[in-house]
Amino acid sequence: MDLPVLARYPFLREASGYIRAEGISLEELLTDPAYARARALGRGRVLEALERGAPPERVPVAEGDRLAQLLAYPVARILVSAVADTYLIRRYALREAVAAEARLGADLDDLVLRVAAELGVDLRRADGAFRLHFADFLRHTSTMRETPWKLINQRLDAGYVRLRREKAVRVLRNAVQRRIEEGLPIPVNDAILEAFRGDLAEIRGILDAKKAAFKADDIGKVSITRFPPCMYNLLAQIQAHENVPHMGRFAIVSFLHHIGMGNEDIFRVFGDVPDFAVDVTKYQIDHITGTTSPTEYTPPECSTMKSYGLCPGPDRICLTIKHPLSYYRIKGRERRPRGESAATAA
Ligand code: SF4
Repeated sequence: MDLPVLARYPFLREASGYIRAEGISLEELLTDPAYARARALGRGRVLEALERGAPPERVPVAEGDRLAQLLAYPVARILVSAVADTYLIRRYALREAVAAEARLGADLDDLVLRVAAELGVDLRRADGAFRLHFADFLRHTSTMRETPWKLINQRLDAGYVRLRREKAVRVLRNAVQRRIEEGLPIPVNDAILEAFRGDLAEIRGILDAKKAAFKADDIGKVSITRFPPCMYNLLAQIQAHENVPHMGRFAIVSFLHHIGMGNEDIFRVFGDVPDFAVDVTKYQIDHITGTTSPTEYTPPECSTMKSYGLCPGPDRICLTIKHPLSYYRIKGRERRPRGESAATAA
């Protein structure tokens, strides 16, 4: 693929091959004035991920501008990796994936198919539409629970799901997000930390402010500062309107129920649920909490959370427990002033 394409799809493996072939060293990228624009664009991509999502497409025309756009991608990856925050990694991957979806939506079918192939997605043309191998369909729509995305509602033909163009591109967005997320964080050294000291301080400041605002959100009588990292992340994803897999939704609903939150408050945590999803969300909450089912479900243990990829990596307290609810209890004890008992706090 040539530079104009790679500048628009910098997450493709060919893009790193192109940079290597250009002979641009990491040191040059970090410090050379010739790459100042690439560094500024990379920083901009990370800030966009945190603040407002991908901007409308601007097509770089000049050769130098295209190279800067291409190099901005490794710069952004370096910055995200240096901050090393799972929420930022997810936001950044989503930003890049949404931008890619917009570009694919405007590009020719041939390019869509080439990008899909490079992502390892078996997507083919089919009479004015596309067909996608069902295994790829399942793999890349597992977080999309809405009816139009259920396999049972698809037209299947010889192992392939027939999709309209927009839906095929939407699946590719998930594939892009997955590739970017799985590739982060990358190792960073002291030279990187030093070169980007100012940018990193700025990004961390915005990230902290975002988290503080999030913490201040009213989520009823429970204390979010006692949440284990897994539940904190799930809550952040839900409130940022990101797709949360079914097991993640199950885990956070059962967790919130067990720490004392009522069903109405749990529903409010889900924020602006689209009309078509209101009934499903309420049904799931009522079912998981035992309101309309014979079972009051308990949140999954840490081992299960890990096997579903929902454990972002244990912190100090996590190392001593086997269940997310234990984290909440222990953190509650730690926060209580010395000499004060649970009864005093009740
Ligand atoms: S170790 Fe357990 S409590 Fe901690 S983040 Fe992972 S799943 Fe959650």
